[in-house]
Amino acid sequence: MPLGEFGLIDWIREKQGQPSPFVTLGIGDDCALLRFGGQPDVMVTTDMLMDGRHFRLEEATPEQVGRKAMGVNLSDIAAMAGRPVAAFVAVALPKGQGRAVEVAQGLHKGISELAGRFGVTLAGGDTNAWDGPLVICVTVIGVPLHGPAVRRSGAKPGDRIFVTGPLGGSILGRHLDPNPRFDAAWAIQQRVPIHAMIDVSDGLASDLGHILEESGNLGATLDRRRIPIHADVHRLPEGDPLRHALTDGEDFELCLTLDPSDADQLLKEWPADLPLHEVGRIECEPGLRLRDEDGCLQTFDGKGFDHLARRSES
Ligand code: ADP
Ligand code: MG
Repeated sequence: MPLGEFGLIDWIREKQGQPSPFVTLGIGDDCALLRFGGQPDVMVTTDMLMDGRHFRLEEATPEQVGRKAMGVNLSDIAAMAGRPVAAFVAVALPKGQGRAVEVAQGLHKGISELAGRFGVTLAGGDTNAWDGPLVICVTVIGVPLHGPAVRRSGAKPGDRIFVTGPLGGSILGRHLDPNPRFDAAWAIQQRVPIHAMIDVSDGLASDLGHILEESGNLGATLDRRRIPIHADVHRLPEGDPLRHALTDGEDFELCLTLDPSDADQLLKEWPADLPLHEVGRIECEPGLRLRDEDGCLQTFDGKGFDHLARRSES
């Protein structure tokens, strides 16, 4: 059977030898963590975007592509509650139509806009041109701000699960303009410890799945009514709105888990102007379940809903 993307990453991860003592967290989280001489961890993340897969240069401007390329990486730093400090940008520019320089300058405009907004220095990169389509790979370095880097692996049974904004339908255009949720991540970590966090790049079901897996094969039940569905979902031509919210991806909101009493404390003092939605609970029983208003549970397999003949205990 062919390996999927995550199967391949697991395969690469298993092939790793003894890690360098400077690498405190390697493959498997939103950023890798490096530590030098007793200093706080340094976060490193990289993401590549390709014309035809993550954007279409016929439809999106180079400036929008630059913003997206920077934004998706910043989102991975936000997912660890970090502060971004430096970026490196490698491009393979399309030679066709003599537009390579114009494309590069447009990319740079978009990159600079986000870099300026979040205090990031463009510190290097690599420039190439070829007969293929535009490819851009950004690497961002970050540092902790209000506490340690938040990993995917710290969720505990009983934790309450939150998301920082409405989900689904980003394909209608929002995917080109990610808004890395530093505001929410920092505001939460200033007040309470965050057990686990991830940015929602592949859909809540899949990304919460990474938290569950990395936290020791835990499970979760999500409350159907509480999952915030983005208004864009209702403009999509077809599909179940809840399923879109759970699987569409590229929302770049954060999904995080908190100790129940910390969650109470956080909600008491949470600024009303920052969205934060409680969506469910972490449980010992592996798998992802949805609870409806009557307390009925369904398992969610990523593709659709699957009735489970069981009532919730709570
Ligand atoms: P994200 O969506 O947060 O960017 P990914 O799903 O792309 O994360 O990657 C998951 C993990 O696998 C990350 O830790 C990433 O650095 C690592 N990874 C992805 N591809 C490779 C690769 N080819 N070699 C080594 N590590 C990889
Ligand atoms: Mg991520």
